[in-house]
Amino acid sequence: MALLSKPQLERYDRNLKLKNYSKGDQERLLRSKVLVIGTGGLGSPILLYLAANGVGNISVVDSDSIELSNLQRQVIHDSESIGKQKAKVAKARMEKLNPDVNVRAVDGRFNKSNARKIVANHDMIVDASDNFATKFLVNDASVLEKKPFSIGSVLEYHGQVSTFIPGKSPCYRCLFKQPPDGAIPTTAEVGVLGTVPGIIGIIQATEVIKVLLGKGTPLLGRLLLMDVLDWDFQIIKFERAKNCPACGDRPVIKLKK
Ligand SMILES: [Zn+2]
Repeated sequence: MALLSKPQLERYDRNLKLKNYSKGDQERLLRSKVLVIGTGGLGSPILLYLAANGVGNISVVDSDSIELSNLQRQVIHDSESIGKQKAKVAKARMEKLNPDVNVRAVDGRFNKSNARKIVANHDMIVDASDNFATKFLVNDASVLEKKPFSIGSVLEYHGQVSTFIPGKSPCYRCLFKQPPDGAIPTTAEVGVLGTVPGIIGIIQATEVIKVLLGKGTPLLGRLLLMDVLDWDFQIIKFERAKNCPACGDRPVIKLKK
């Protein structure tokens, strides 16, 4: 097993100084494989902090290109990168931040025909998408592949986030059975304060580190709701639904392997 090099001991010094955080923990992060779907408002802090903390193998999926209106919150990108592919720009930035990290930019979209294949071979999956269809797909593929995952959402001045471990916790469909029927507006319609995905994304990155290292109490069966205008944080508890279409007693959700 590879031991931490001298520069690595220095780079991760503030992690290693923590109580209950060993060199073995840091080595485990360096060996971990995390998949992040989306390199936008949520993906930016998630990817930057996972890379900075030495999560050693990170796959990123995003088929979009950078637009000027992204830059108010998507801080992994910059003004010089407008028009460029988000996944490639994110990869370059992360590798510059921490050369210990291998970043794989997955070409194309995360869809029903490739979701399970992309999810497989990772230790944890992070939904950083901006749409419900993808969140439900992350849920279904991760449940089927038995991978821990995190889902975050943001809109206007609020956000929500939860963590899931198939077999140990309820899933996203236990909470919301199916995608909403178009009644929920998007950030392109009603906006989002630029810092909101920053906060939710950093919570998601923190959950990834905790789950990978088996530390603390992740947001399992708990949905954290945040309103930044009044700094109202609430946690809603939820349980596994026996009739859940993904993780219930008779699951009906299937995806191509
Ligand atoms: Zn479920």
